[in-house]
Amino acid sequence: MTTTRLGATASMAERLHSARAQGAHKTLALAAALVVASLVALQHVDTAPFSPSSRLLPWWVLVLGFAFAEFLEFHLEIGHETHTFTFSEAPFVIGLLYADPRVVIVARMLGEVGYLVAVLRSRPTKVLLNTAMYLAECTAALLVFDTLRGPSNVSDPRTFFAVIAAIIVADTIGFATVSLAIHWHGGAARRRLVLVAGLFTGITNASLALVGAVLMESHPWSLVLLLVLVVNQWLAYRSYAALARRFERLQLFQSFTRAVTTSASAAVVVERVLQQARQLCRCDYARIEMLGGGGTDTIAFELRGSAAMQECGPLQTRVLDGGAVRVVRAASKSLPDQTLLAELDTDDCVVALLHSDGVVVGALVVGDRIGDASTFDDGDGRLLDILANHASVALENGRLIDQLHSSVDEIAFQALHDSLTGLANRSGFTEAVSAALALREPNEAVAVLLMDLDRFKEINDTLGHYAGDQLLIEIGQRLAQYTIDGAVVARLGGDEFAMMIPRVGSVDEAVGAAHALRERLVEVATLGSFTVDVGVSIGVAIAPLDGEDLVTLLQRADVAMYDAKRSRSGVELYEPERDDHSVYRLSLANSLRSAITNGELAVHFQPKADIESGRIIGVEALVRWNHTEHGLISPDDFIPVAEQSGLITELTDFVLDTSLAQSEKWRRLGLDLTVAVNVSPYNLIDSSFARRLEHRLVEHRVEPSRLVLEITESGMLELDQVLALLDRISGMGVTLSVDDFGTGYSSLSYLHALPVGEVKIDRSFIVPMAAKVGDLGVVRAIVDLGHNLGLRVVAEGVEDRFTWDELAALGCDLVQGYFVSRPQPPDVLTDWLLSWDRSALATPRGVRTTTRRARPTRIDSRIN
Ligand code: C2E
Ligand code: CA
Ligand code: CA
Repeated sequence: MTTTRLGATASMAERLHSARAQGAHKTLALAAALVVASLVALQHVDTAPFSPSSRLLPWWVLVLGFAFAEFLEFHLEIGHETHTFTFSEAPFVIGLLYADPRVVIVARMLGEVGYLVAVLRSRPTKVLLNTAMYLAECTAALLVFDTLRGPSNVSDPRTFFAVIAAIIVADTIGFATVSLAIHWHGGAARRRLVLVAGLFTGITNASLALVGAVLMESHPWSLVLLLVLVVNQWLAYRSYAALARRFERLQLFQSFTRAVTTSASAAVVVERVLQQARQLCRCDYARIEMLGGGGTDTIAFELRGSAAMQECGPLQTRVLDGGAVRVVRAASKSLPDQTLLAELDTDDCVVALLHSDGVVVGALVVGDRIGDASTFDDGDGRLLDILANHASVALENGRLIDQLHSSVDEIAFQALHDSLTGLANRSGFTEAVSAALALREPNEAVAVLLMDLDRFKEINDTLGHYAGDQLLIEIGQRLAQYTIDGAVVARLGGDEFAMMIPRVGSVDEAVGAAHALRERLVEVATLGSFTVDVGVSIGVAIAPLDGEDLVTLLQRADVAMYDAKRSRSGVELYEPERDDHSVYRLSLANSLRSAITNGELAVHFQPKADIESGRIIGVEALVRWNHTEHGLISPDDFIPVAEQSGLITELTDFVLDTSLAQSEKWRRLGLDLTVAVNVSPYNLIDSSFARRLEHRLVEHRVEPSRLVLEITESGMLELDQVLALLDRISGMGVTLSVDDFGTGYSSLSYLHALPVGEVKIDRSFIVPMAAKVGDLGVVRAIVDLGHNLGLRVVAEGVEDRFTWDELAALGCDLVQGYFVSRPQPPDVLTDWLLSWDRSALATPRGVRTTTRRARPTRIDSRIN
């Protein structure tokens, strides 16, 4: 009657080894208690039937009715348990109304228990508990019915009431029994859901039976109509159960794809795959076998029961060849199957192969099915196959990410160190000085020493490059040996070295250190059979006296170094009066202000092409200054001046206005282009930047998606304020691009957290590719890294077809450089764009060998 049968418990009991014996004992005790209680209660049941004897049904009709009600079962999977619901309330209610109560009990035992034993071949414990439970349910229901019933009239409301109450009591007893048994065997389904579902179907079934009885008394022929309703109800139960199962699987599958495809290292992916495979295949055991490089050295991990993931020995049984999936059922008698199960120490298993580019690279195994379906079937095989496909892609990505982590570390080291001397290079030095300046206490100074070897060029030219390199190495070693707490030494390029000393107490201390250092350096050096005198000039600049930012300090140390060289004094401290450079810069700063307003600045544009189709998809705005006195000045020279003098706000605004206006003009000409504008780090610490940008987009009526802002890595400072600004800009729909990527320190995790959509590989990596001396490894790593983070990858500085094709083969997305076009004034570029024949540049088919890896987030439509 209560329609929940002990499904999950019996099969689960076999696996939970320690809980098993105890659980089984308790179950038997429960069965015994139920039987005793029922027998006692039966003494009080009135044996007189509800209807007159002339209308009683023969016993065998009821037996058949109960067996048929069992046959119409349907299953609901709730948590790890399968609950079976039947129609048994219907024959029971008919029995209450038209049979001797003792007959009802016996008929139910014969019908339902017989079905369990003969058809379902259930285990003895299960049959025993079910028998006891049915007995208890029937007895309780009869007692309740007897107590509450009115006159012997089927259509009397009191009869309805008594029947429904009896069913509720019976179903509740059944529910409590099943819950207890499941609890003893370690299960934990969503109890309330099970009770509600049980009562709902029970009351519905009982009502249908009551309606049937009423109709039979008055209009027997209308029972046909009722039959239609019953069939309908049965179909509705079944499709609900199927839907619920499907929904649960879909949810599990979705969480699987989400869990395994978010970028993570291979180890994390393995663990997630195992956990999710176990959950989805409803089993206790999961294992992954992976071939090492070269097809050998299998490594394996397993997850069993509640233990943590463990590395384990590879399988001796051959599982990596043969078909894609292998389902080994619990009952399998074949010898290979038995061997595999013995080795896995499971009752049953499914094996699916992992592939990479069509080659088998490992296997995913699950075993020890839990739930009512006692072993795996072909559906589980299909499911595991799909999981294995997704897992393969995720593992491949994980492996790539691990590789990238190490190559990014390598790039980071290379980016900060000089390969010849092992000292810091310019970037490393820059970083060290910036850090020291940021940490400087008000009463401390930071000294920057810049040094240059005298006559190095002569030595290099007369004794050869090898001797020149030896000298640089020697100087590098002497510098490295001169240790001052916290100091950083660097080779900035050529024969230029530098030292930064943090926490200097006074100017004299800094100058004293410079003299001591020089004394060490000027010792003679032996280069093969030659000895050379080493001469060195050192310039000293001190923060905060000579400037408080890196650029100024380096420039001033440079001025001082030239003084030292010119005066042959060896060491000089920066003197503003002697600084010609700063005079020039000062004059530039003065004229820049008027240049912006007087139209001396112009913006040129350089196209970006799609590497596959050759189509021009955007342009980069590059500012130009035609100075009335000094002629054309490179942005590399006057952008720093603008940044230092605070004019960078006006300059960026000017470039933005010009670019947005031009973008709108192009749009009206039917040219669909994004415009990229370079933004200085100084713009990003200006809190009004985002607001003003928003106004400009509205004013020029340009869609935010047509604007790209290029920002150097160092510009994306890890400051909350800057991050908030970048988030806001990206939230408007403007694309952020990381400019000059690869030259700064690129922290993978950091890049991941930024709202960027594009990376531009610095041209210093691209230009050498033409001479076939470029480091393809770095370019490849950046392309893969970018794609892994879902970014568009642009290469700048492409000067020839060869480089283009190489980049296409590496899977780069966009290309910018002289090969496509130099930066040009807008009018010239417009004509060029209108006559541009993209087919000339399209990458021929087959050149792309690396394709962008699709992120496997789509759910396979085969799942059901
Ligand atoms: P960038 O952002 O890396 O710009 C690309 C530079 O590479 C441009 O130099 C461009 O002319 C040059 N270039 C383009 N194709 C090739 C090629 O095939 N080979 C080589 N060797 N070079 C190529 P440009 O115009 O001299 O600009 C220099 C830098 O000045 C820019 O580097 C950018 O950092 C800065 N800059 C330019 N315009 C602006 C601006 O409006 N605002 C700000 N803040 N910075 C700007
Ligand atoms: Ca740029
Ligand atoms: Ca760049």
